[in-house]
Amino acid sequence: MTDCLFCRIVAGEIPATLVAETDRVIAFRDITPKAPVHVLVVPKTHVANVTEAAAQIPDVLAEMVAVAQQVADAECGGEFRLVFNSGEAAGQSVFHAHAHVMGGKHLAWEDA
Ligand code: 5GP
Ligand code: ZN
Repeated sequence: MTDCLFCRIVAGEIPATLVAETDRVIAFRDITPKAPVHVLVVPKTHVANVTEAAAQIPDVLAEMVAVAQQVADAECGGEFRLVFNSGEAAGQSVFHAHAHVMGGKHLAWEDA
């Protein structure tokens, strides 16, 4: 069994509220939302961060962006902030690449 939280969510071992899924990507609600819409888009393959995703699974990374757009189209008028924290100092706490899709209100840049 893996000790990666998001691998375990992908495997269905830990429950999450799914909002979208493709063969290679899942999207589920953040457990501690920081905006009215706060969804995590995650590759089913384990890579540690967005840079590894770009290098190792670039087509999946592009699919993550497309899924982010679909979530935003469904939930917040198609407009959204997409955040990849990379490294502890940047706020990354789960070391399985994920995009935060945030929206549903006017986001000031200072809210970043
Ligand atoms: P990071 O800080 O690594 O950029 O983002 C990790 C995100 O995962 C955080 O926003 C946190 O709220 C969310 N998170 C942590 N544990 C869980 C969980 O068990 N389920 C869900 N749905 N989200 C989680
Ligand atoms: Zn993982």
